[in-house]
Amino acid sequence: MCSIIFLVMRMHELLEQGKSILHRLQAAGHEAFFVGGAVRDHLLGRPIVDVDITTSATVDTVAELFEKTILTGARYGTVTVLLEGTAFEVTTYRADGDYTDHRRPDTVHFTRRLEEDLKRRDFTINQLVMDSENRVADHHNGLEDLKNHIIRAIGVPSARFEEDALRMLRAFRFVAKLGFTIETETLQAIERAAPSIRNIAIERIQDELVRIFKSEHAMSAIRCMVDCGFAQALFDLEEGLSALAAAQAPFDDTLAFALLYRHYANLGEIFKFSQKRLKHLASISHLAAMTETAQFTPLTVFNEGLKTCLKANRLNQLLGFADQTAHLQRLAAELPIQDARELVFRGQDILVHCQPVRKRWVGLILNGLVEAVVTGRVPNDHEPLKAYAKRLKTNLEKSDNA
Ligand code: ATP
Ligand code: MG
Repeated sequence: MCSIIFLVMRMHELLEQGKSILHRLQAAGHEAFFVGGAVRDHLLGRPIVDVDITTSATVDTVAELFEKTILTGARYGTVTVLLEGTAFEVTTYRADGDYTDHRRPDTVHFTRRLEEDLKRRDFTINQLVMDSENRVADHHNGLEDLKNHIIRAIGVPSARFEEDALRMLRAFRFVAKLGFTIETETLQAIERAAPSIRNIAIERIQDELVRIFKSEHAMSAIRCMVDCGFAQALFDLEEGLSALAAAQAPFDDTLAFALLYRHYANLGEIFKFSQKRLKHLASISHLAAMTETAQFTPLTVFNEGLKTCLKANRLNQLLGFADQTAHLQRLAAELPIQDARELVFRGQDILVHCQPVRKRWVGLILNGLVEAVVTGRVPNDHEPLKAYAKRLKTNLEKSDNA
């Protein structure tokens, strides 16, 4: 409850703060409005994450009017204005030229007409503007679509996706975020334009996918991606995304990618993950496969850590397998040691008491001791561990001679 109140306060705070930017631009003789997600989410009563402002003022004027500015995308007319540490994106009205790379316009030209700026925006619900008196202007019937929960491309849908293929993923992202439906003609245009998603940089695709996977209505969006053939066009991800669309429990981006990993061993080549992240995804995926019907063991919890085991368990729940949370928590609580360094009989003791012939035997004996203690076969006490270490050494000698 507290967090909801906090978010609502935050929402008002951001728009109230942003109004001072609108006022200053207006006082200098320019037009300025809130636009895009901030207006959409404000009208929906949703929390606002960032505020975009559209203005007739040029980049130079905006930069002159405000103390702290960053020229984030001057070529595209965008200046970031910083007010008490909060960033507001202020963009000059612009119309886009031709698109040849399916992503960015080859040229843009700045204009003094708001209508031209609104025409270049992606969806009707994203072109609503609001002035400093909270008056909303709607040039493309966005209020109606907002009321009916519809995502509709502005203008001729096929042309809009042909221009910028990323808009297709943005449409799915708004489904995921808002739980809206994509309007028929817009969806048909996506079906036809789907293969052009290959022109988009993987970082941008991944960024949108992560946002989709993290969203409340992710499953509806993924189901829609599969049904319209977009999932197939997106690196052949249909099989994995279908599995995700059938999830029987909630997931986040980590679980979603871990599930995809199961279907695509080359996931690390498709997407850009850090080595650490890829290893984590692989661990969750493998661990889940091993524990779908078998129980987690103390040794697995010790080796992989409770957190990763819980993730693997959630992946299994998502696939319809039994929940082992309570079992995992009990195993973790009952582990005799949390770390190999907690063994009371250690490397130095092995050297002194076992005198291993080969150096690598120290590691092998140590692993054997850890396993014995973790599984409860040997207590973590000096004498029993010494006896067990000697037995392990004898076994190593035997297998070495064999
Ligand atoms: P959110 O910030 O909640 O993810 P948003 O609608 O604010 O959603 P942004 O990426 O912040 O999305 O973009 C701000 C606005 O800029 C959008 O609402 C839309 O009007 C316009 N826009 C952004 N990307 C595109 C695009 N690829 N094509 C056309 N218009 C776009
Ligand atoms: Mg935004």
